[in-house]
Amino acid sequence: MKEIICKYLSDLNLRNKSLSTYTIAEEICNGMTPENFLSVEVVSGIITEVFDSHDEKFSPEEITAVTEKILTDIKLNILEETYRGAVPQLKFGSPFELLVAVILSAQCTDKRVNEVTKILFPVANTPEKILSMCKTKLEEIIKPCGFYHAKAEHIIGAAKMLVDEYGGEVPKDFDALIKLPGVGRKTANVVTSVAFNAPAIAVDTHVFRLANRMKLAEGKTPLEVELGLQKVIPREKWSAAHHWLIWHGRGVCKARKPQCDSCPLFRVCPSSNR
Ligand code: SF4
Repeated sequence: MKEIICKYLSDLNLRNKSLSTYTIAEEICNGMTPENFLSVEVVSGIITEVFDSHDEKFSPEEITAVTEKILTDIKLNILEETYRGAVPQLKFGSPFELLVAVILSAQCTDKRVNEVTKILFPVANTPEKILSMCKTKLEEIIKPCGFYHAKAEHIIGAAKMLVDEYGGEVPKDFDALIKLPGVGRKTANVVTSVAFNAPAIAVDTHVFRLANRMKLAEGKTPLEVELGLQKVIPREKWSAAHHWLIWHGRGVCKARKPQCDSCPLFRVCPSSNR
């Protein structure tokens, strides 16, 4: 925690040059007892007190800005420590398989999608094979995922566009991906980050809920949240952070009953049931 505090204290211009940010960070850490909840008010109060004791004066706005950055970093650090190495639960062997799995996952669990793709992919796992399959057969296989008429249409439409315009390959370009039938920002971001290992933050229902609850990035639409998260998460961690949030949303911070008492973010989350 000291390193995080130091990182942002150095944004402030200390008048007393003999004071090291490390010393100040240490004093701030000492004020953060394991019992106190680390809200913006509490932490900025501790920071102000420490500065006052060293006769350093900063405006409340400066202190609040630094505090918000510190708290955001602490939340992200906890998520990273808890979910390091988290991987997607959808099973796939190629970008096209992932694309199909993500289209099928709308309003459906990953477990169910994996059960369905286990039957679908051995029969049709390329755009060409999907197009050579009759629609009724495709619908029959994907029926357990729900909305199977619309999903079949999207899969067939996407396969046709891939064959007609991209030589049967899934394009890496986000703007091209988003033009495929059945592919919105979320799906395009998942494919970009998971299949092509490029930085992207897909905002699904879990990411949207958690970003707002934890005040990592507040927004009324997935796009607002996506842009907000891009600002506070380092670019190289966008894809990983998407998985941290999904795993935390599924296992702990559930939609109806968040398990705040056993949540590692309890002390720093503004929505915890304290
Ligand atoms: S403390 Fe509660 S609301 Fe906050 S992230 Fe954890 S489970 Fe969710």
